[in-house]
Amino acid sequence: MAGMTAGNPNARQPDSRRDPDRSYGTYRSPDRNHDSDRSPDRSPESPDRAAAARRSLEGLALGDAFGERWFPLFREPQRAYAEIRARETPAEPEWPWTDDTAMALAVHRVLDECGVVDQERLALAFALAYDADPGRGYGYGMHMLLPALLAEPARWRALAGGLFDGGGSLGNGAAMRVAPLGARFADDLGLVAEQAALSAEVTHAHPQGIAGAVAVAVAAALSVRSELTVAAVAEATPPGPVRDGLARAAELPFTTEPVAAAALLGSGRAIRADDTVPFAVWTAARHRDDLTAALWSTAEGSGDTDTTCAITGGIVAARTGTGAVPAVWRARREPLG
Ligand SMILES: [Mg+2]
Repeated sequence: MAGMTAGNPNARQPDSRRDPDRSYGTYRSPDRNHDSDRSPDRSPESPDRAAAARRSLEGLALGDAFGERWFPLFREPQRAYAEIRARETPAEPEWPWTDDTAMALAVHRVLDECGVVDQERLALAFALAYDADPGRGYGYGMHMLLPALLAEPARWRALAGGLFDGGGSLGNGAAMRVAPLGARFADDLGLVAEQAALSAEVTHAHPQGIAGAVAVAVAAALSVRSELTVAAVAEATPPGPVRDGLARAAELPFTTEPVAAAALLGSGRAIRADDTVPFAVWTAARHRDDLTAALWSTAEGSGDTDTTCAITGGIVAARTGTGAVPAVWRARREPLG
């Protein structure tokens, strides 16, 4: 398949493209009064949920590293699609993860340390991860923002809000790193949405950048609970293009070929949350008990494959773990350190 990335030299700069339509819906705070499922006897994070968060992180990193193998930098798109269809495991002996995992690790560590999102600490954690290795495939906006956050983490709101002429980023970067957060707080969907939004705001001030993170975090939480449906994720997502895309995905039968679903929903080629999240959630729900199948199907959609596979991997593995994928996949994926 002739992926658009073949003719798109900027495809590895996720935040470099902006939708001219700035009339997106305004993010609304999650309604905590709808937490009828919250158990008052449970702390926000139980040992079970800590394990789910770790499973999700492992799956996110696996999807990120697996998905990255299909980029035109490594394989010409037609060859990539043929190999994916033939289910040929990428032959490279080492599969490095990218910015998706670097940022997910930062979120994970801040939550380990603080229990909930501390936005200034998260800003500094993102900045330190970038400073340690800026060559992980970060998007244009993050190359602008993260060095500034290293100098002034307390100013994250002004700095993130100032990106793209003051509109903030609506890229897929807040969504790609957030699934383990959703798994961690899976007992309380209101808390999931709230904490996902807080984690997103540090770098993605645009309401749709935030909506993408809320959607993926909720999907991971529902996955842990064995309740994942695309419709349920759409319902929990703030209004706007991300939610609209999820609503379209919810109507799409699972008999649809992934390449056709990607053509309809987008698969990250515009590198926005709204053209990335609906397809990744759809493939996750299509294969919610089978991480290997989920990642192959997501890769079939081409586009921003490290990001789509990171999102799908984080959602599905929150429930399944990574133990059932081929052992060679786990051996080749760069360790988390
Ligand atoms: Mg990446």
